[in-house]
Amino acid sequence: TVQVKGLSKRYGEQTVLDGFDLTVRFGEVIALLGPSGSGKSTLLRCINHLEQSDSGEIRIAGKRLGFRVDGRPMTQGDLANERASAGVGMVFQHFNLFSHLTACENIAGPLRWVHGMAPADAERRARELLERVGLSHRADALPRHLSGGQQQRVAIARALAPNPRVLLLDEPTSALDPELVGEVLDVIQRLVDEGGLTMIISTHQLRFADQVADRVVFMSGGAVVEQGPAHEVLTRPRHPLTARFLSVMG
Ligand code: ATP
Ligand code: MG
Repeated sequence: TVQVKGLSKRYGEQTVLDGFDLTVRFGEVIALLGPSGSGKSTLLRCINHLEQSDSGEIRIAGKRLGFRVDGRPMTQGDLANERASAGVGMVFQHFNLFSHLTACENIAGPLRWVHGMAPADAERRARELLERVGLSHRADALPRHLSGGQQQRVAIARALAPNPRVLLLDEPTSALDPELVGEVLDVIQRLVDEGGLTMIISTHQLRFADQVADRVVFMSGGAVVEQGPAHEVLTRPRHPLTARFLSVMG
């Protein structure tokens, strides 16, 4: 479903992704691990075309994103439409909700603007999703009146609203107070159990990675260092960098 081939990305002199390769099957759940600065966020942002890579290729369901048939550069609007039609949703570390819109409007708004849904349908869909993440009772609250855990659950609902095939989650719990981590992990766990969604989750929660992921991909210096079945990599890492990372994190 998701194919990343030889992806490279530089910021100035610094090479952040260095020929990164990854193939993710439909319905597979990947835990993306790696030290701070290893390029996890950059990779996810490139997959979602929030960031332009310098070279390499990304295909979602066989389709290469970010290229117009007429060769003109993509506008932000083109990219939003492509992301929508490719079926990629993203959840960010810092939630990235629209601060002036209610929980319900954060979800319904993009359904109208990007997906052209009729207002009544968008609102119905938004409320349905809020119920799914246990937030029906907070539908009309502004983000600043919600806890971090609740905000992240709204962000997950928003990402799910257009029915994506691929969901990218970038350290979804690392901005949360420890007592709020569980409610967000529970929602993600439930999505994984329901199946049918391809997920790439960057996380520092090793126990969670072990529970939900089919495969762990450990990256360092912008490339894959080691990957394999989650439990195997987490308990018997073969590469010294993975072993060192796990011993520091664990
Ligand atoms: P963390 O675990 O801290 O979130 P990460 O693995 O997500 O780290 P990235 O955020 O992808 O790492 O960053 C990789 C490197 O790229 C870092 O050295 C970072 O400073 C640099 N970098 C990221 N975004 C930019 C940018 N917009 N401009 C310049 N440098 C950047
Ligand atoms: Mg990051």
